[in-house]
Amino acid sequence: MNQQTLSTTKMNIYKPTFDLETGKYIDEAPMVPRQILEFKCLCNQKTFNTLTKFKTHIALKGHQRYVSCYLEHMEDANDVKEEMMRLRTKYEINERKLKMSLKTTEEKLELAQKTIQEFINSSHSIHITQSMNLD
Ligand SMILES: [Zn+2]
Repeated sequence: MNQQTLSTTKMNIYKPTFDLETGKYIDEAPMVPRQILEFKCLCNQKTFNTLTKFKTHIALKGHQRYVSCYLEHMEDANDVKEEMMRLRTKYEINERKLKMSLKTTEEKLELAQKTIQEFINSSHSIHITQSMNLD
């Protein structure tokens, strides 16, 4: 019974997000809509549970320093391993998204080529009928 109480009141550790475009860690609000979650940032062990408190926290100089060299703050191999897994998942999701948008672009391109080809074909046939009429 005690374990259940513990898991519901579990403190979440706030982790900055790795930005694939810039290759840097950035702050991203971890809040989930319609859920009250408490997060603890390891830069100063302070907690926040609202977006306002989160914004106040990430404006702190100490926090910004912590985020900018996030990887250096990792203390043990498990943390590093966990972070690598997190990055890998993010990378894979991103790759999937990229492939999907590439597919959509290819499909659009194919459709455009088809339309152009049809247009060329139809203008050809007009040409042919016109020259036939001239004869
Ligand atoms: Zn912090």
